[in-house]
Amino acid sequence: MAYISNEVINEIRNKTDIVDVVSRYVSLTKRGKNYIGVCPFHDDHSPSMSVSPEKQIFTCFSCGATGNVFTFVSDFEKIPFIDAVRLLGEKVGINISGNVSINGVKDDYYDIYDLASKFYQNSIFTSLGKNAINYLNDRKIDKETIKKFGIGLSIQKISLTEYLKSKNYTSLKLNEVGLTNENDNDIFINRIMFPISDLSGRVVAFSGRIYNTKDNSKYINTKETDKFKKGKILYNYHIAKEYLKKNDSIILMEGQMDVIRASTVGINNCIATMGTALTKEHKNILKNMTRDIILCFDGDAAGEKATNAAIELLEDSSLNIRVVRLPNNMDPDEYILKEGANSFKEHIKNAISLVDYKMEVLKKNKNLTDIKDISSYINSAIKELVFVNDDITVELNLKKLSDNFNVDYTTLKNKYDNLKNNKKEVKEVIKPKKVYDKYGKAERSLIYYMLKSNSVINMVERKVGYFPDKNIRELSNEIIYYFHKYGIINVADFISYIADREEILNTLKEIVAMDKSDDFQIEEIEDYIFVVNEYHKEAKIVKLKDELKKEKDPMKQAKISLEIMELRKGVKNGTRN
Ligand SMILES: [Zn+2]
Repeated sequence: MAYISNEVINEIRNKTDIVDVVSRYVSLTKRGKNYIGVCPFHDDHSPSMSVSPEKQIFTCFSCGATGNVFTFVSDFEKIPFIDAVRLLGEKVGINISGNVSINGVKDDYYDIYDLASKFYQNSIFTSLGKNAINYLNDRKIDKETIKKFGIGLSIQKISLTEYLKSKNYTSLKLNEVGLTNENDNDIFINRIMFPISDLSGRVVAFSGRIYNTKDNSKYINTKETDKFKKGKILYNYHIAKEYLKKNDSIILMEGQMDVIRASTVGINNCIATMGTALTKEHKNILKNMTRDIILCFDGDAAGEKATNAAIELLEDSSLNIRVVRLPNNMDPDEYILKEGANSFKEHIKNAISLVDYKMEVLKKNKNLTDIKDISSYINSAIKELVFVNDDITVELNLKKLSDNFNVDYTTLKNKYDNLKNNKKEVKEVIKPKKVYDKYGKAERSLIYYMLKSNSVINMVERKVGYFPDKNIRELSNEIIYYFHKYGIINVADFISYIADREEILNTLKEIVAMDKSDDFQIEEIEDYIFVVNEYHKEAKIVKLKDELKKEKDPMKQAKISLEIMELRKGVKNGTRN
């Protein structure tokens, strides 16, 4: 199995320009030496992200997001680092095939699912798959769609197990990845198989549907594994993303059949949750995917509940939300089959705004000919409008209320103004920058300048005994090691080098994003080293003082005091050489 060396990763990075790549995702404007743009990693309203063509890194001044071209793509696309390397490698003609990781450890999971998926797809087009194909054709799923979504068929008890064993995978492994049970039998038997892919498009699970019995609601899914977590996966994400043009909305549905059905009538910007409520992870994926989202859940009561829950979760994001509610309890799949593609497209085109949807929801269970109910409705409607940021939308809605219920506009406006003034101004939440004591500041400053200057690396190597913070310590060791190995330090490449070590990578990002001048004086570096070396003495003094407080014996007290004094002297005069 291939092993990607850092040299190859660096070569791809050298052939790639970060400004080019980032501007595919975010529009950038040149400012001085750098480019600036709206940061995609927080709810940014003014351009806070800076991209440096010289250093080949990006930094956000608000949220601190930092990295090289690979971590940008990896964070934006929500794909593993190595897949970002692969993706950018392809663009410059360096192909990384197979499943590899940076440290060269092969992950069988994807290979097994790839083989299983091909096996199932192959089976559906054999004579054994006739009934399944007929069943799908009856439901207006044609051959092209079957191929597009990789739909396959599971057959007898142990066919897949035998096949995978012939490829040298053990029972234990197959059981672990969720394809066989403890009796060594296939999990999926006589089912139409829908592969489920992760965000990178790799098959990580299956959904198997019964087709040859009357009971047509029966789906079973692969058990959750570390590669398949329903809360982190959106069905069809990788395909929808390809189809999504700049101003397209994404349509979020409940089931995979809805997505497949929509695709048969040429609507390809659909994704679906895997039978779970929308999660925070989903929210982040969606935010990176689009600005506009249309919620098109099932038309029944459960679908309404899911719609409201999704709104609650997504509301504070920058997403523009619209809603489609299909009539007669139908889901999108049923609706398109029964009412046709055009009628469905009309629903999508006329998706109602979030405010309008909420105004409708508030009317539920109210008798709007009854004065008490009208009053209660108007009050809750105004309360809802207080949270709407767009003045025009507010005014239009107040007018509508005034017209519909024959209430004086000024009365409604006054009520709105009162509530609005009482509402606390919700400020944009920006992750507060961590505050460090003088030791934390000094050690971080040293790492900052080690990444810029060989002489600082040398000084740290010679003079710093021990960094107080564990991550800083490891980072320093890695920088020194890297420097000795390559004879040069380059931040953008160093980020790749430690990309698989999340904890120290995060510390590094934080340091690279520090607001510090690129120039430094040797005296400044000496000072940082002095402070860092002081740390252990200070720590010792604190400990001794504590002992002194508890000590009753005057002789011992004197001894501790003397020790403290000696240490203090050392802190003042010594160490700095
Ligand atoms: Zn940011």
